[in-house]
Amino acid sequence: MNLKRGLITVISGPSGTGKGTLIAGLMKIDRNMHYAISATTREMRSGEAEGISYYFKSRDQFDSLIEQGEVLEWDEFCGYRYGTLRSELETKVESGLDVVLDLTVKGAMAIKKAFPEDSISVFLLPPSIEALEERIRGRKRETEEQLKDRLAQAEKEIECVTAFDYVLVSDSITQAPKRLKMIIDAERQKVRRNPDILERLGLR
Ligand code: ADP
Ligand code: 5GP
Repeated sequence: MNLKRGLITVISGPSGTGKGTLIAGLMKIDRNMHYAISATTREMRSGEAEGISYYFKSRDQFDSLIEQGEVLEWDEFCGYRYGTLRSELETKVESGLDVVLDLTVKGAMAIKKAFPEDSISVFLLPPSIEALEERIRGRKRETEEQLKDRLAQAEKEIECVTAFDYVLVSDSITQAPKRLKMIIDAERQKVRRNPDILERLGLR
């Protein structure tokens, strides 16, 4: 039997900071990391795929998932709903797999409360607000109105950094994933996260 539970790493930070890029970088250097795919009511963008980027749902489908108790937490962001699916998180954690999530601040706090022993929270800050605006413009995904909305949200979200366990600055595409992996590796070695070792030593 696997005594070890998986570690949940929640990444939050303003839209456009580089959370997706950071998680992609982490997955390349950490083969034991699994990404929990969320459900969303927003439309699929070019380059995205069903069941890879998100599970794309209509508002009715999303609401019935909530009613069925399949959504562990959800939040509304810029007019759309986003939620963590029980099926993407619980089974993995219970079978000892480590999972990374990309969530709004409210979502991060909900997961922290639901999994106090299993989760860590990391806030990803942009190097500056100017750099953030440049990144959002650079990826050419949002309209001017959506960009303004996301920048306004960013200022509010950054004030929540104090509620997180760790802070990272997304300055270097190559270094930030390495710094994140160092945090995760240290958390993996916590004594309470290694019941198998304690059992072997007869200490449990
Ligand atoms: P988020 O997931 O937080 O919304 P993305 O990962 O989509 O952000 O990144 C937003 C844009 O910024 C993308 O065009 C990405 O290539 C760029 N980017 C991400 N991280 C960095 C970085 N460390 N340095 C420079 N550009 C970055
Ligand atoms: P995007 O539209 O850029 O893909 O995502 C917008 C925001 O939704 C991001 O800040 C991302 O962290 C957040 N998000 C994505 N999935 C979830 C989720 O399942 N729950 C919550 N609370 N936020 C999510």
